[in-house]
Parts: sequence; C-alpha cells; structure tokens
Amino acid sequence: MVRQSGKTFGFHVPVVIIGAGAAGLVAALAAQEAGAEVLVLERDPVPRGSTALSAGLIPAAGTRWQTEAGIADSAAQFAADIMAKAHGEPDATLVARIAAEAGPAVEWLADTHGLPFSVISDFSYPGHSARRMHGLPSRSGEELVDALRGAAEARGIEILCDARVTRLHADENDRLLGVTLERPDGSTEEVALCQLVLACNGYGGNADLVRAHIPTLADALYFGHTGNQGDALLWGEALGAATRHLSGHQGHGSVAHPAGILITWATITEGGVQVNAEGRRFSNEMHGYSEQAAEVLRQPNRMAWTIFDARIAGIARQFEDFRQAEAIGAIVTADTPQALAARTGLPAEALISTLSDVERLKLDGATDTFGRAFRADQQLSAPFHAVRVTGALFHTQGGLVVDEHARVLRPDGTSLPNLYAAGGAACGVSGSQASGYLSGNGLLTAVVLGRLAGAAAGAAVA
Ligand SMILES: Cc1cc2nc3c(=O)[nH]c(=O)nc-3n(C[C@H](O)[C@H](O)[C@H](O)COP(=O)(O)OP(=O)(O)OC[C@H]3O[C@@H](n4cnc5c(N)ncnc54)[C@H](O)[C@@H]3O)c2cc1C
Repeated sequence: MVRQSGKTFGFHVPVVIIGAGAAGLVAALAAQEAGAEVLVLERDPVPRGSTALSAGLIPAAGTRWQTEAGIADSAAQFAADIMAKAHGEPDATLVARIAAEAGPAVEWLADTHGLPFSVISDFSYPGHSARRMHGLPSRSGEELVDALRGAAEARGIEILCDARVTRLHADENDRLLGVTLERPDGSTEEVALCQLVLACNGYGGNADLVRAHIPTLADALYFGHTGNQGDALLWGEALGAATRHLSGHQGHGSVAHPAGILITWATITEGGVQVNAEGRRFSNEMHGYSEQAAEVLRQPNRMAWTIFDARIAGIARQFEDFRQAEAIGAIVTADTPQALAARTGLPAEALISTLSDVERLKLDGATDTFGRAFRADQQLSAPFHAVRVTGALFHTQGGLVVDEHARVLRPDGTSLPNLYAAGGAACGVSGSQASGYLSGNGLLTAVVLGRLAGAAAGAAVA
C-alpha cells in the first residue's frame, strides 16, 4: 500500500476488480450491467480460485426451483438459520440483506447469464431448515467458475490473467487511485481506477496468518486455493479498514485421504457415521462439517473413516468429486461390517459394535450420548462403504467489515471512499468460530456481496 497523491498511471479503467473467482466475476457482471467499463485482474493463468475447488453450491431462499420442488422457504427463515448457526455473532442487518438478495442473485445468473441452476432436493445440510442449495448440473465449482467466466467473456468483460496485484495506491484521504500488477516475467504495470473491488479471497493460503488467527488448524491440510494469501486483509488493514471475526473459517471433516477429494456431507446427513482408527464414534457429526474438521484432527493419526451404504452412495454420486473418489478406488465396499473391518483395517469387534449401536439408535429414533438424533428411515444396509478422511481448512471467513452495499468500513463505521470487498475478502456471516459456518456461506457471500459490490461500484462511475 502506497500513499501518493498526484501519481500518474499507464492506463485508466473506471472499475478494477482484483480476483476472478465467483466474487470477482459476479462483481464484474454486475458492474458492467450498471454501465461501467470493468477490468478483472487475476494472478493465475486461468481463473480458478477456491471457487473451482468447491462443490459450487449456493444457498438461496424463495427461488423458483424451490417452488417447483414444493419447498417452502423465505429469506427471513434463511437469515434466522444463518444467525442461529453463527451463534448470533454476525451483523443482523447485513445477514438479512444477504439472505434477501441470494434468491434474486441466483435467478439473475440463470436468467440473464444462462447458468442452468437446480436445487438439491434429495438431502439436507445441517443447520438449513429448508432445502435451498442451488448448483449447476455437475455440482462442481469448476463448472461454476467456468460458466461465470464464459458469461463475462460473452459480454466483452476483460479478464487479465497472469496479473498479480502487488500494490495499491491511495491518497491521504484513503481514496484508491490505482494498482500495480506484476506479470510472471517480473515486469510490472500500473492501472488507474475510480472504484476498486477486492475479490481476492482470504488468507487460507498464508500459513503465518492462519497460525496467528486460527491456531487450531495451523498444521491442518489447506484445501483451498494457495494463491489466496490474505492480500485483501493486509491492504485493508494498511488503509485503516475495520476487520472482524478473523478466527472464523470453514473447515471440513471429510476430505478423502490420501486421495485429497472432498466427500460430500450427504454421506453423514443421510445416516452415515464417522469412526476413528479404533472403530469408535467420537462426536455428533450432525453439528456440521466445518467444526468436524477439528474433531477428526483430534483422533489418532488425525484420521477418521466415514461409513455409509449403497443408498447414500447413490445420492452422493450427483457430485463430480464423489464419482472421482470412486473411480480412483478411495471408496471401500464390503457386504458385511466384518468384511468392511477387514478391508479398512479397523478393529472388527469395535466396528461391528459401533455400527450395531447406531442401527439400534435409529430403530428407536433415539439420541446418542453426543447429542445426535437418529432416524428410523436412515438404516444402513449392505453393501456398506467406507472412505478414509482427514480434516482440512477450506477457507477463512473473517475479513474486512463491509456494509450492505459491500463498501469497506473503517472502525468508526464510515466507509472508505471507493473500496468494496466481496467473498472471502470480506468478513462473512459465520462469526468467529468454525461451528458458525452454515453450509454455503462461502459462495453466498461471494455471489451476493460480489453482485452488490459490482452494482455499487458500477453505478458510482456510470
Ligand atoms: C474444497 C472446497 C469446497 C467448497 N465448497 C463450497 C460449497 O459447496 N459452497 C460454498 O458456498 N462454498 C464452498 N467453499 C468455499 C468457497 O469455495 C469460497 O467461499 C468461494 O469460492 C470464495 O470465492 P472468492 O471469489 O471470494 O474466492 P476465490 O474463488 O478463491 O477467488 C479469488 C481469486 O483471487 C485471486 N487472487 C488472489 N490474490 C490475488 C492478487 N494479489 N492479484 C490478483 N489475483 C489474486 C486468486 O488467484 C483467485 O482466483 C468450498 C471451498 C473449498 C476449498
């Protein structure tokens, strides 16, 4: 960050967006729709980001896909779910705005930009009181980021790749004047701007920042995009922006190991369980996959096995990731718990006892000592499946404090003159704990804040 009034730059673009993941590409579409000329700067040769690593699922309430599937939902109910999962920590006004804007944002991406969304109606995510996850056909974030890039390119939006922003330039009043970007050959270019959107995610790829803010996962596998080095946070701090909930994050307790493939949490919510190397359960898996990361990492060898059956595998197969895990043999199959123990190396007596206890709890519709309530209609039956998993950090949820137009705020609540943040660059709606993360909060704030930021930045220059 450099402060220097009167600086001259090579060329000028009214709205500059740093980062071409979901937040940046959505912001670009919205800014251009508002009438602005836009430039997206992306450090990688091809836009991918954490968005491409995700399942690409965006929660939204009151959409037409929900109506078609007979799912009753509302923005108020969605906002209440977000606040409940995040222990009431996030800003309630911002949460209400984001929940209200999610449905219109997903419908806009479908109707104006041709993204073929559908709602996941065959299983639920913990903490969501309605089925409201929307995804593209492959249920993969790669398809999402490719579709967003295609939409931006179709509208002539310039996405400059291999362009890592290394420096922001501001005047004495904190007004951003331009950026310096570095090319892979070490050469640099400078771009002047009127409005700047930070869409370069959080600090999950920066081991020092993770150690400082999320010490419990300092040694955990980071499963997000390594290019997300906390640049937005560091620039914002240098500008005097307010930051919040820096310990907040999305973990995940079901990353196949050593395959390194995300195993959908449907394996749990549909009746599966996790056991440790001793063949014993160790937690209420239904609290959520985010907090389960630390639970798994506390087990022997920092590993667990997720155990489910053929019916659940049928549901999980809608995810590209799960199909890949099957294709490379990461999913073990056996006809009996005894055979499953032999195939996984788990102690047979303990595993058989654990699974029969679980099935009894299900038959009784009972709650176990961890507090998990089981359902009679979720009995496991042969063939059984198991996958060895570990816990991982997916992305950080703390960041720059923004208002309901995604403008970056100072600690006194005033906004910086021309700076916006969206997605992982902004403080999200998950509060300060892993357990505050409601499934989909990541892409929710990428897409909704991205759209709000782009619309506001575009309107400011149009
Ligand atoms: C395995 C996995 C599964 C997930 N599944 C889901 C899910 O199903 N639903 C959900 O809601 N969330 C999910 N998430 C979280 C979700 O992926 C993120 O919250 C979301 O993608 C953030 O979007 P973004 O645009 O802010 O960041 P990103 O998609 O990471 O994009 C940021 C971009 O900025 C670029 N960049 C960084 N620094 C610079 C710089 N200095 N100059 C130029 N460019 C820069 C990066 O290269 C990157 O392309 C998942 C995450 C992971 C890792």
